[in-house]
Amino acid sequence: MKQVIDFVKANLEKEKQPAHALGFGKYFTDHMFMMDYNEEQGWHEPRILPYQPLTMEPSSMVFHYGQAIFEGLKAYRTPEGKIQLFRPDKNIERLNFSCQRMSIPTLDEALVLDAITQLVTIEKDWVPSEEGTSLYIRPFIIATEPYLGVRPSKRYKFMIILSPVGSYYGGDQLKPVKIHVEENYVRAVKGGVGHVKTSGNYAASLKAQEEAEAQGYDQVLWLDAKENKYVEEVGSMNIFFKINGEVVTPELNGSILGGITRSSCLQLLDYWNFPVSERRISIEEVFEAYYRGELEEAFGAGTAAVISPVGELSWNNQKITLPPSETETIAKRLYDAITNIQLGKEPDPFQWTVEVK
Ligand SMILES: *Cc1c(COP(=O)(O)O)cnc(C)c1O
Repeated sequence: MKQVIDFVKANLEKEKQPAHALGFGKYFTDHMFMMDYNEEQGWHEPRILPYQPLTMEPSSMVFHYGQAIFEGLKAYRTPEGKIQLFRPDKNIERLNFSCQRMSIPTLDEALVLDAITQLVTIEKDWVPSEEGTSLYIRPFIIATEPYLGVRPSKRYKFMIILSPVGSYYGGDQLKPVKIHVEENYVRAVKGGVGHVKTSGNYAASLKAQEEAEAQGYDQVLWLDAKENKYVEEVGSMNIFFKINGEVVTPELNGSILGGITRSSCLQLLDYWNFPVSERRISIEEVFEAYYRGELEEAFGAGTAAVISPVGELSWNNQKITLPPSETETIAKRLYDAITNIQLGKEPDPFQWTVEVK
């Protein structure tokens, strides 16, 4: 049976910012979704209410032991003014995957899709239409039981907030990024939670990101934690290389986050019959390919920026630069294909988009 989602309308509507001022994740819409969990009732009281601060006990478990997970997806405005989501089923599936690894009770996937759809419908005027903009959707779960013993919480809050966003790197789509290959810090180990969208992964990565930024880099490329040798991923993106005509991306090995953009790229490359492999790839192999003149492209893939070409890569006191290609790159081809489907400008052969009415 379909669960009814309660709705309390906000008294005041906030002022909307112009597209150029949006940035990423700075402004939030008028409403949010909330649902609670306890042992007696399970997940209960799904509701949409005015966006507002939370009142929580300082002893809430999330503050102490970090039991928290999140998702990130977007709603796009098509040229005809329709609104559509991109592969929301995949985000919801991954949300439950994260729940399982973090000992959080899983959610009814149909209800979550319903919650996202209803919330976006209520906030439809917040979906911007300018080039490169969208409405970012952030579902997340936190442990709310007031208790300091170490064990899974017995209470949780699942919330969804929305933020109108501009382009991730401010302006320029497909602007090449400078990447520092991290040799001191590690992000995740096999058996840990690197493959899960849990907040602590980001907390652990901030120091390396901060140091890389101080040296003029945009992001960090993580290597495997055991041998410091194999390429894993970039902070919030999966990584791809094009070497001698073939696209290569690290295989999902238990410490890499399985990105939905990554999977969309692989599906498209396959559809185009473009040579592609998912395998272990060492950073040494990447640099050797560069010195042989065979490293044709490197790019990151993630919801926030879709595709980010890598312009510079530094590792082991070596700095390599990938000049902008004269011919059309696979990064550009993937970017165009994915964004055209997201924006409803091209047919959607994979049925990736879901219209919100
Ligand atoms: C979310 C995320 C990605 C990208 O996943 P998408 O589903 O493509 O947005 C990559 N790496 C990490 C660590 C992430 O948290």
